[in-house]
Amino acid sequence: MRTVIARDGDVPSILGRDERPTPLTGGPDVVSAIADSARAALAAAKAAVRDVAAAGCAAPGPLDHMRGLVHDAPNIPGFRDFPLADRLRDALGVAVFVDRDTAMAAVAEAVAGAAKGARDFVYVTISTGLGGAIVSHGRMLRGATNTAGEIGHWPVGLEGPRCGCGSYGCAESFAAGRNLAEAFGVDDAARVYAAAASGDARAERLVARAERALENLAIGLTNVLNPSLIVVGGSIAEHEPARTLEPMRRGIAERAFKVPRDAVRVVPAALGRDVGMLGAAIAARERSSGRGEWFL
Ligand SMILES: [Zn+2]
Repeated sequence: MRTVIARDGDVPSILGRDERPTPLTGGPDVVSAIADSARAALAAAKAAVRDVAAAGCAAPGPLDHMRGLVHDAPNIPGFRDFPLADRLRDALGVAVFVDRDTAMAAVAEAVAGAAKGARDFVYVTISTGLGGAIVSHGRMLRGATNTAGEIGHWPVGLEGPRCGCGSYGCAESFAAGRNLAEAFGVDDAARVYAAAASGDARAERLVARAERALENLAIGLTNVLNPSLIVVGGSIAEHEPARTLEPMRRGIAERAFKVPRDAVRVVPAALGRDVGMLGAAIAARERSSGRGEWFL
């Protein structure tokens, strides 16, 4: 987990930070660790809790950002329907606004990054997992129970590997780093891409299959949502643009409907590793001031 203390501004400036492993021993330990991390970041910024107007927390989804409830975090035992915002508020003594990490990243890219000025865009992250967020007409698309935007579970294959969500053929099950690494029998997707680049036929098949999944995902997003931008971030997209952004562009050029195809560009994310932190700081400011989700 990472914590930053940021000074408010159009683009928040980071004054102090802390990074530590996320405990795998249940919700209460995670809350204690976040509080410890926040205190360490405050000390680094030479600030105190009374200086903090509000806190934002970017968490893995699916979650309900209105209630601050994390429905499920498969990598953290005991994090099922966990009231993260309330527990953090009690631990920190400030108002805490929780949202999905990808929604926070989309907010930051919209306010200060690659999607600045765009009213209709999709944020996609390709890293250990595959996720995203949808901004439609300047608003985060939330859906009936606040889980819209989980595009990693868009089914792109009639068959395909089992997905962690219980389904099969999800974009994530083909193209996320964790899934690629598992399918190749290594612990890091970078090794799969390296093996493919050096001519390993099995690695190349897996990477080519991931490319086709990303093509289909990009075509679906383009045809259904008519975005002006698809902003692609995450460590795999950063390191392997030719095998992530390029196939998305190629798929759209070859197979998307003409009108939405002509309106969309696939671009790299601009804000790098701090994107979720910046989004959390911006969203905390906006939500605590009552402007909610209408500020993009
Ligand atoms: Zn899935």
